[in-house]
Amino acid sequence: MIPFLESSYANPSSVHAFGQAVRHRIECARQQVAELIGATPKEIIFTSGGTESINLAIRGTLALHPQRRHVVTSAVEHSAVMRLSEQLQTEGYEVDYVGVDDEGRLDEDEWTSRITERTALVSLIHANNETGVLLDVARLCSIASERGVPVHIDAVQSAGKLDIDVTQWGAQLVSLSAHKFHGPKGVGALYVRRRSGLVPQIRGGQQERSLRGGTEHVAGIVGMGVAAEIAATERSTFTARIRALRDELEAGLTERIPIATVNGRGSPRIHNTSNISFAGLSGEAILLLLSEAGVCASSGAACSSGSVEPSHVLDAMGLDAKRVHSAVRFSLSRFTTRDEIQFVVNKMPVLLSKLTTLSV
Ligand code: PLP
Repeated sequence: MIPFLESSYANPSSVHAFGQAVRHRIECARQQVAELIGATPKEIIFTSGGTESINLAIRGTLALHPQRRHVVTSAVEHSAVMRLSEQLQTEGYEVDYVGVDDEGRLDEDEWTSRITERTALVSLIHANNETGVLLDVARLCSIASERGVPVHIDAVQSAGKLDIDVTQWGAQLVSLSAHKFHGPKGVGALYVRRRSGLVPQIRGGQQERSLRGGTEHVAGIVGMGVAAEIAATERSTFTARIRALRDELEAGLTERIPIATVNGRGSPRIHNTSNISFAGLSGEAILLLLSEAGVCASSGAACSSGSVEPSHVLDAMGLDAKRVHSAVRFSLSRFTTRDEIQFVVNKMPVLLSKLTTLSV
């Protein structure tokens, strides 16, 4: 990324050679991101991140079918989909939020019954950002496709971590974000399947096939491309190791701490996420103690950390208030070490004993 901040600063829309050299790097990045998810480069639109991709996908599709005023999504979406859906409701759209069971599995009968010919779009999260629970998006997409309803998948948490082939999913739109696979923050992409239309939401220049006006964030896009290539080529070498560490963390904590429960454990989950409740304790207090001990974890979604709002995802799973308020999310990566996992497993009982002493 550094050359594109320091010396290769030409505008990729300029016709001169300096600009065209930069344009070439953007097109390389488009190829790298396309390969990560089994798309073709023309199907990739660069954006400022997952949130913008999601907004473009949903609003851009709704604008194509102004007569259809119905959207189907789930009750466990990221706030980017949740807040947008709430906004759509204030604009007269009807939005159905399909529920999940206590393991985070989507109610497929409800999903099937909600999608009708007046549905403009369905939007579904692939790997849940709080619990890591994976939805069977290929099957759920096919239910919508059979009814001619376009599908958007929020693959922000799974792209770069799992083997994704968007052609097998059959989705029209898939949102990605670079920083979830070690790319830079503030850059993302939207996959737009060939021949599925989309109405631009940021109008301006003709960048990104006129679907997203504005001069490109070149360094970010280049960084996303390289991160995508590294993820695609190296993922298989570290996925099993991350899963083993995640399992070791969960086994260690649940063995040593009787009140610890892993949320969504009974469902297929992405390998790097672990959501654990310590019923009766405060998730926020646990996070502070962990932070003092040098451990960075989150309560619920990172985007809503800092607020004491209980997690809508755990709430939708029907978990009781004690479990919801005491949940801590651990995220692992290819850089997580066994020593770090052992440190958390050994430290946690000591930290929690401080909280139970305080609450006596
Ligand atoms: N969707 C999911 C599942 C996420 O986890 C996130 C970010 O955490 C987003 C969307 C939003 O992505 P961004 O932060 O790149 O806007």
